[in-house]
Order: sequence, then C-alpha cells, then structure tokens
Amino acid sequence: MNRIFLKSMAVAFSSLAASVLLALIIVPAIGGSIDGNAWLMLTICPLAIAWPASAYTFWQDEKLKRAHGDLARAHAELAAAHAKLEEKSRRDPMTGMLNRETFFAKLDRSRRKADRGALLIIDADHFKKINDNFGHLTGDKALLEIAAAISRAVRSGDILGRIGGEEFAAFLRGASDQEAIRVAERVRHEVELIRFQPMDERVVPLTVSIGGTICKSDANVSELMRDADKHLYEAKNRGRNLAIFDVPAAA
Ligand code: GH3
Ligand code: MG
Ligand code: MG
Repeated sequence: MNRIFLKSMAVAFSSLAASVLLALIIVPAIGGSIDGNAWLMLTICPLAIAWPASAYTFWQDEKLKRAHGDLARAHAELAAAHAKLEEKSRRDPMTGMLNRETFFAKLDRSRRKADRGALLIIDADHFKKINDNFGHLTGDKALLEIAAAISRAVRSGDILGRIGGEEFAAFLRGASDQEAIRVAERVRHEVELIRFQPMDERVVPLTVSIGGTICKSDANVSELMRDADKHLYEAKNRGRNLAIFDVPAAA
C-alpha cells in the first residue's frame, strides 16, 4: 500500500511539474500571462486528477500481478497433481509395479528401439492354495513379499510389471543370455528364500516358475510373450520352482 502511495505521489508531482512547465512555455508564447487563479488551477488540477488516477491504476496493477502469481502457483500445483495421477494410473496399486498396459507399452517402445534384452514371465506357484488355506488377505501379503523379492533380484534399470493376478514380468534391458539366466535364477532363488509365516511359527514355502526368452532383434512383443509363456508352461509342467529359457538354463 505504501508503495502505491509513493508511486502515485511521484506521478502526481511529475504531472504538476509538466503542467507548470507547459503553462510557462505556452501561455507567454500566445501572449497571455499566468495570474493567481491560473497558478491555483495549474497546481491543483494535476494533483487532484493524476494522484487518484495513478493510485487506482497502480492498485489494479498490483492486484493483477497478485492474481497472476496465484494463477501460476495454481497451475504448477495442478501440473504436479496431474503428473502424480498419471504416474499412479501407470502402476499397480498393490505392488507399485507397472500395470499390465504400461509394462507392455514400455516393452513395445524398447523393442522399437531394438533394445537388446530378455523377457521373463514370473508366475507364483500353487497360489490358489495360499488363498484357500489362509484367506485372500494373507494371499495379498504373500504377493507383496513375492513382488519385493523380484524387485530385489533384478538389476536397476530393468522394467518390472504386474501383468496378472499372481503373474509378473520383467524386461531385462540389454541382458546377454548368461546375464538373463543369472537374473532369472536369482529371482527364483530370492522368492524361495522368503520366510512367509502367515499364522504361527510355521513357514509356508513360496515359489515361482519363470519362463524366459532372449529378445531376437526382429521379435515383436506378442512373439516374445508367446515364447516366454511357452517356457513358463514348461516350467510348470516340469514341477514348478524352475526358470526355463530358450537357451540352456542353469536351473
Ligand atoms: P499354478 O502353479 O499353476 O500357477 O497355480 P496357481 O494356483 O498359482 O494358479 P491359478 O491360476 O489356478 O490360481 C491363481 C490364483 O491366484 C487364484 C487367484 O485367486 C489368486 N490371485 C490372483 N490375484 C490375486 C490377488 O491380487 N490377491 C490374492 N490374494 N490372490 C490372487
Ligand atoms: Mg500361479
Ligand atoms: Mg497365473
């Protein structure tokens, strides 16, 4: 408020100076003279008009600046909320991993860039039994433990997704055959190490079966999925708690 008062006062006194200066130049030039009343008008008019008019303009300007600031802040908050929501919509709410759509979209983008790597499909073994024996909520806890074990076992930069109820996928970016087999085996082993105790001291074993495929340069997502699925099916048929690849696996 002080600033507006001082600024408008400066404008008013500048107008007063301009008014006096113009009068001193123009009036004698047209053969007139400035008497007492004219001096009064010359000083009071600019002060009476310029002061309130400029004060009002500066006040409006301040209000506009404040509104601009508020708008910019609201815009930034909205953009942050939007980004947060968008990120949330990409994730599985339970495990925090990418959801199915986002995982496959990301995998597809990687394939278009012809990224080398391997795809793993990881399915919890006999999971229905966990639900049947201990209830769905306990089943959820077991799933969270499995998801955490998978996250621990992969490398940073690998893409993880929950692509079904008790089914996860991992794209191992740039992994060589041997690296992919190592990571798959690490995932299998890390899940096997979970000491899941839903009721009492008794540990309920948790295991996963893994189907993996090394990405050939021209293979699209459907072909990769088909290959990994085929190996997952094989792992289930061969007794579960296995990682099977389209190259000789260490498991
Ligand atoms: P398999 O070794 O052949 O994969 O046997 P499975 O019992 O794991 O497979 P199946 O497809 O018969 O059953 C999957 C079970 O996973 C049944 C379903 O209720 C459970 N499941 C899927 N999503 C969730 C979930 O979010 N929470 C819980 N608690 N259970 C889930
Ligand atoms: Mg299963
Ligand atoms: Mg399944």
